Amino acid sequence: MSLCLPGDDPLITCLYRQRGNQAFMTTNQPFAPKPGIAEFGDDKLHEECGVFGIFGHGEAAAHTVLGLHALQHRGQEAAGIVAYDDHRVSSQRCLGLVGDHLSSEKVIAALPGDRSIGHVRYSTSGGKTLMRNVQPLFADLATGGFAIAHNGNLTNALALRRELVTTGSIFQSTADTEVFIHLIATSRFSNLLDRFIDAIRRVEGAFSVVALTADALIGARDALGVRPLVLGRLEEGAFILASETCALDIIGARFIRSIEPGEMVVIDDNGISSLKPFPEQRPRPCIFEHIYFSRPDSIVDGSSVYEIRKAIGAELARESGVEADVVVPVPDSGTPAAIGYAQAAGIPFELGITRNHYVGRTFIEPSDQIRHLGVKLKHNANRGHLKGKRVVLVDDSIVRGTTSIKIVEMVRAAGASEVHMRVASPPTDHSCYYGVDTPERSRLLAARMSVTEMTEYIGVDSLAFLSINGLYRAVGEGQRVANAPQYCDACFTGEYPIPLRDFEEGDIDRQLSLLVENG
Ligand code: SF4
Repeated sequence: MSLCLPGDDPLITCLYRQRGNQAFMTTNQPFAPKPGIAEFGDDKLHEECGVFGIFGHGEAAAHTVLGLHALQHRGQEAAGIVAYDDHRVSSQRCLGLVGDHLSSEKVIAALPGDRSIGHVRYSTSGGKTLMRNVQPLFADLATGGFAIAHNGNLTNALALRRELVTTGSIFQSTADTEVFIHLIATSRFSNLLDRFIDAIRRVEGAFSVVALTADALIGARDALGVRPLVLGRLEEGAFILASETCALDIIGARFIRSIEPGEMVVIDDNGISSLKPFPEQRPRPCIFEHIYFSRPDSIVDGSSVYEIRKAIGAELARESGVEADVVVPVPDSGTPAAIGYAQAAGIPFELGITRNHYVGRTFIEPSDQIRHLGVKLKHNANRGHLKGKRVVLVDDSIVRGTTSIKIVEMVRAAGASEVHMRVASPPTDHSCYYGVDTPERSRLLAARMSVTEMTEYIGVDSLAFLSINGLYRAVGEGQRVANAPQYCDACFTGEYPIPLRDFEEGDIDRQLSLLVENG
């Protein structure tokens, strides 16, 4: 087996030719690096990745670029596309944004074929991202060329990796996704689909994957369906797999349905077939997709994200309403919940804070001093709507609290007479191990302080979080079923639905360190 290993250049072209059922790399062309990129330290949880796949369209790569554009909010550190043409696999991967590196005519022309997959990723690293971790990963297997892109995080990746290394596998990245490739490569089954099923049955954790072979586009979602994956179709007939429906909208594809938890679909020249490789389990999709990760114009597991966020705001107003003159969102993610809050409370809604959309996350070294200035760089008070007002400030969540402090300072400096913070989720007091970048638990504000202590720390007149049952009501569940919760809500409750094998065996503190350059 060989992997595409282009070194540490920010944009690399790998071109493979298929000979029989073997693919081999023919060119490797580095592009000029973009210097000085570092994470700008904003205080949010970050979705790790977004995936996209298309089968049966002559302009597959161009559609994939558009799809990745729509999924850019799920990861801004790196992106990549693998396309398959008759007997040829080509790949373009980069550090940075899709629009900066992958959307030129030259790049798209280097990705011929009627099928391709793509990936955007976020890295937890404050330092450099390893280029060899950038997905899709590609391998030349005994069964032919195989590419895979993964959203989620495997919780037994280190245990499996140890096993595989013992039996001769040589890992070439630090991405947990590479475990899929080695499991498939070493499976005892002869055909690729059986090997794929064998592999996904051995991994634990959260995964929504798209994979490309010479004959098929494969999609699969873990047994609990923690991370999302949807199916769409273009009028011309091409099938699409994507993390969110907004990636279907951008290319004019029709949303057909969500891939079900535990479902695997195989799309080839004969159409689409569905398999169920896992025993039936009660689904536990990530409830945070509704609160923050997904785009508000997406449909997640059958529900409009925007409508759910408004319902969350309305629940918040019912649970913890306060006398006030104006409801102001912390933009952009707090906006739909603030609208819902304002409508339910009958209080005027105003955009009292303006966000600069052109700062991006890639800016300058995140020293404490620059972090401090950074909040003003990103947000500014709209004084006319704050001066002398009793303000309800609505945000989607509080992670470390650093941004909240600065925003509250800014609103007070603009002349607000009272500042009441309402948070559109329960306190985030546990880390996520299923594909979301969360600070370690000791750095989560809610894990360190009571609500009363947080009120003082953030500097507000009052602070309230949505209750867990309020959240379940807003997503249409009535209430949380304590002995069989309908969602993964572990970052609020600490009840992890999938075993944290590597973590429990003491291998690592945070499994996402697999995705980080550790020096
Ligand atoms: S722990 Fe939280 S962020 Fe992670 S999958 Fe579960 S609900 Fe989503």
